[in-house]
This record gives sequence, structure tokens and C-alpha cells, in this order.
Amino acid sequence: MSTPPDPSPHGPLEAIRTRIKSVAADAGRASDAVTLVAVSKTFPAEAIVPVLEAGQRVFGENRVQEAQEKWPTLRETFPDAHVHLIGPLQTNKAKDAVALFDAIHSVDRVKLARVLAREIKAQGRDPDLYLQINTGEEPQKSGASPADADGFIAACREEHCLRIAGLMCIPPADEDPAPHFDLLAEIARRNGIDGLSMGMSADYDVAIAHGATHVRVGSAIFGKRTPHP
Ligand SMILES: *Cc1c(COP(=O)(O)O)cnc(C)c1O
Repeated sequence: MSTPPDPSPHGPLEAIRTRIKSVAADAGRASDAVTLVAVSKTFPAEAIVPVLEAGQRVFGENRVQEAQEKWPTLRETFPDAHVHLIGPLQTNKAKDAVALFDAIHSVDRVKLARVLAREIKAQGRDPDLYLQINTGEEPQKSGASPADADGFIAACREEHCLRIAGLMCIPPADEDPAPHFDLLAEIARRNGIDGLSMGMSADYDVAIAHGATHVRVGSAIFGKRTPHP
């Protein structure tokens, strides 16, 4: 039997893995309690391959079409790669999203939940679903407001029979994220939800200290993004 080659080192990825372990340990959490979602949006396959070769297997994309262009080919070489949708989803793309993604972090309204439920049933797939909560109640951000969160969760579970893996938030850019992470954790706790998708390059360590199970880290791994045209 041949042993697989050692993963090739990837500096930024190694540093983040080490930091995740140490912050988790400081918070009294198990080292495998936190999943790193490497956000590869806007980066071409050539930039993603070295991160796959370094052993990273969970990735985040924010556009259905971009993910469709990159991941079927990458998965031929790395069939165990998991791809998570972290960006807004239009209902007319729900079918493609259910077919492609292993998790959807951006379920932000009941109408989308209804269409996802239909597609999940039709396709016999079971992606992990995260309900987005607009903890900062920012008008430009999607997600249920904290006051509507319990009702949103109940509608997804009871009316649409969805299995809810977790909650997700994106705190306001100019505020201390910690109270937002705590609010998300509290909504999850009182609804019996385990997963917490929170924390990005600038604050994933804070998020882990406040209970994140999934951190979505892009630029700290891949470098600065050039904005979409
Ligand atoms: C782009 C993006 C991230 C990653 O952001 P970085 O600051 O590059 O780590 C995380 N979550 C969501 C929802 C994003 O759109």
C-alpha cells in the first residue's frame, strides 16, 4: 500500500490552522470543534489547487455560477472537497445550488427556504443549511432580524421540514463583533441549534472564543481580492 504524499505546506493556511487550534484550546474547546471554510471566491482554480494540496478540504464560494465554473473540475482531482455557498441566493438558482453545494450558509428568508425544501426533496440531496440572521439589523444586509429569528427558524423547521445545521451572521463592519457573535449564539442555544457560522479573516479568533463552529476565512488565506467587475 502506498502512503499518500505529505501535504505541501501553505504558509498562511498553516498559520491560521495553528491559530484556530490555540484559540479553541484557550476557550476550552476541542481542536476539531471548529471547521475552517476557506473562502475562495474570485480566485481562479490555479490559486485554489495549492490550498487543496496543503490538505484543506472545505471551501466557500459566494456565487453559484462562479462555483459551477470552478468546482466540478477541481472535484475530479479532489473528490472529497466540500464547497459551501456563503453568498446571497436567488430562488431561481436554488436548484443549481442544491445540486452543487454541500452547505448553504445564506438561507435568509422563508420564500428561499420553501424553494430549497422542494429542491432538496426532488434531488434527494441533504446540504447543511444555515439560517442567516441580520444581527446588526442593517438595511443593506440580508437575513432575519433578531426579533424575527425564532419565527423564521420555526417556519423552516415546521412548515418546510428543513434540517437546520446552524445560524450565520455577518456583523456590521464598523462595530465590535463580539456582541453580535454572542447574540447569534444565544438565538441558536434557545432554539437547540448547534452550528454557528461566524468570523472572517479579521475576527475569526474572536468568533471562536464566542462559540463559532465554522469560520469563513478568505483574504487571510488567498490574499487580497480584486472586486468583481
Ligand atoms: C467574502 C466573505 C467572507 C470572507 O471574508 P474575508 O474577510 O476575506 O475573510 C466570509 N463570509 C462571507 C459571507 C463573505 O462574503
